Amino acid sequence: MPGQPEPRPRILEISPYVGGRASIDGQENAIKLSSNESALGPSPRALEAYRAQGDLLARYPDGGASELREALGALHRLDPERIVCGAGSDELLQLLCKAYAGPGDEVLFTEHGFLVYRLATLAAGATPVAVPETDLCANVDAILNAVGETTRIVFLANPNNPTGSYLPRAELRRLWEGLPSSVLLVVDAAYAEFVSPSDYDPGIELVDAAENVIMTRTFSKIYALASLRLGWAYGPPAIIGVLNRVRGPFNVSGAALAAGVAAVGDQAHIDRARAHNDKWLAKFSAAMADIGVTCVPSVGNFVLLRFSNEPGRDAQAADNFLGARGIIARDVTNYGLPDYLRLSIGLDQEMETVIQAMTDFTRRS
Ligand SMILES: *Cc1c(COP(=O)(O)O)cnc(C)c1O
Repeated sequence: MPGQPEPRPRILEISPYVGGRASIDGQENAIKLSSNESALGPSPRALEAYRAQGDLLARYPDGGASELREALGALHRLDPERIVCGAGSDELLQLLCKAYAGPGDEVLFTEHGFLVYRLATLAAGATPVAVPETDLCANVDAILNAVGETTRIVFLANPNNPTGSYLPRAELRRLWEGLPSSVLLVVDAAYAEFVSPSDYDPGIELVDAAENVIMTRTFSKIYALASLRLGWAYGPPAIIGVLNRVRGPFNVSGAALAAGVAAVGDQAHIDRARAHNDKWLAKFSAAMADIGVTCVPSVGNFVLLRFSNEPGRDAQAADNFLGARGIIARDVTNYGLPDYLRLSIGLDQEMETVIQAMTDFTRRS
């Protein structure tokens, strides 16, 4: 029989993920504010630990990630047995989809939710369902209304990227209470360390109260170790057991594990990154308000700026204008937000440059 290998259904519906641009042609020292890595970079201790791993490349890493799980457990007061590490939280999100959903099953996420949920759902052969948001924020009632017989997973980024909005503890709890116990709720708290409001729960309290909730975290954002690909999840023993069965035996590199342990040990660095972000979230939003640019309120280390749809003043024109000044913003058209640009909080000088560029953009005739 003639023919060719065919992937499973839905795989070809995937539009491969396109990350934030990393460079601009002809710009040597571009200001990269397109992927939400912490402005301050990684802890010097993490870098040192990473470099020391150069002498150990011939050896397999600890497949159980014991030291890192112990360190995370001590920091967050969690049972290390209920933690699993992954090659970025992305890997864990993918594995959860593959383990808990397949053809004929639905996976829910919100309208402007993190794009990886759709990709992971399609890769598992399941059906993605995007639930409408209200004012760029997840709507608990809308999510619960969309849950049906075939729903297997609900993904919630809290706070969400790219909107920067979040559900407070009581709303998160209400979401869980309304879900059938057979539906897995994945709380993706990639930006948890940046969030300051006291009504926020990254998901830990809910995981402790439930058998169907898992929280994912990452070292790519406040820890600024994005290139090493390191993430973790905290969940009920049964779900952690599933992840440990389906993950690769050595899914996290020794360099990532060593840098992660050192990074967790340097919380003073994380405190500085958080303080820097708090300062600039407020300062930048105020500066945008001064020039009449709407900033969506954000609790993360990024903000969405809203533009009119008038040619020459729209998000595309702003992106080009910023690009000509060497500033790389994130186009969020593929998140269903063509009138917006997302900007990560950068260093002091970078933020001053962005404010100046935005001021010049709005004043240009
Ligand atoms: C950046 C981000 C992640 C992290 O992905 P990694 O694979 O850990 O680098 C996860 N979720 C959201 C919402 C993000 O923005």
